[in-house]
Amino acid sequence: IAARSAPLRGQQVATRDGTRVSVLANIALAVEAQGAFAQGADGFGLFRTEMLFCERREAPGEEEQYQAYSEVLRSAAGKKITIRTLDIGGDKPCEFLDLPKEENPFLGYRAVRMYPQFQEIFTTQARALLRASVVGPINIMVPMVATLQEIQWLHGQFHHIAQTLQQEGIAVGEWHLGIMVEVPSTLYLLEKAANYLDFVSIGSNDLAQYFLACDRGNPYVRHLYNYRNPTFLALMRDITHRAQAAGLKISLCGEMAADKQMLPLLVGMGLTQLSMAAGMITACKDALTTLNTAHCQALLESAIACESGEQVLELVEQFLRAQS
Ligand code: PEP
Ligand code: MG
Repeated sequence: IAARSAPLRGQQVATRDGTRVSVLANIALAVEAQGAFAQGADGFGLFRTEMLFCERREAPGEEEQYQAYSEVLRSAAGKKITIRTLDIGGDKPCEFLDLPKEENPFLGYRAVRMYPQFQEIFTTQARALLRASVVGPINIMVPMVATLQEIQWLHGQFHHIAQTLQQEGIAVGEWHLGIMVEVPSTLYLLEKAANYLDFVSIGSNDLAQYFLACDRGNPYVRHLYNYRNPTFLALMRDITHRAQAAGLKISLCGEMAADKQMLPLLVGMGLTQLSMAAGMITACKDALTTLNTAHCQALLESAIACESGEQVLELVEQFLRAQS
């Protein structure tokens, strides 16, 4: 396997019929960047910035964040980099913020919903990200967006902050704004969102949680929290097609992207950017080269017509056996 995988490191792969797919890494620390490239990452589809903020008494300042983001961009040497703004609340606590205790934290005060109240923390991170864009092009991605008003607010904020930096004589490079699609309402916002955004990325971990109404960490509903559920596959297909029709670039950065049995279905949806734990990249690239897009599209439609996630799994296993 090692010998077969070696040529795929560091180069983009395509399906058998020539559909190019970028396989990107999810990282949480700037120091992970080099290792991810060594494992064959075509870039980073998700740099979770929470680690920079956790276990400390106060939020990191603009300079510290600027250094961390610049380090990631330098190591990328022009490859695609998506950095996500702070995603706290819900399952992700934060020591330096005095957050209210909530009965339903996953449905409560999380991520983008907190930015207007904690404006200074938001602005500091936005300034550091925009400043880092002089090192290389940067995709800035915002989690937990549910409404068009949030998108409009973000668009206004980032443009205003970029303008302020330039007025201060601080250079800003190439940057693009996007959101995570992890709240189901965003499916119906994509056309309008395209007036303000460049890209979206499906966060299937949370999207499944909110779509199926299952706490992603609750063992009592684990059997229901299933991204193979045919209704969830239909949702993902519709998100992908509507985003593409609206002219938005689209990727997937949830755990589902690293599931080899899901790969033909993701290709069938038309997803061409998949972001996952670095250790899964080589295997994913290998598997991609064996697939045919038209066959994957037909498989996806059959999967959506299935009656359960178990049936979907059987169907995909049969498909993979038949082509090996
Ligand atoms: C997701 O929700 O799918 C995601 C990638 O974000 P996180 O797991 O950090 O919530
Ligand atoms: Mg999420």
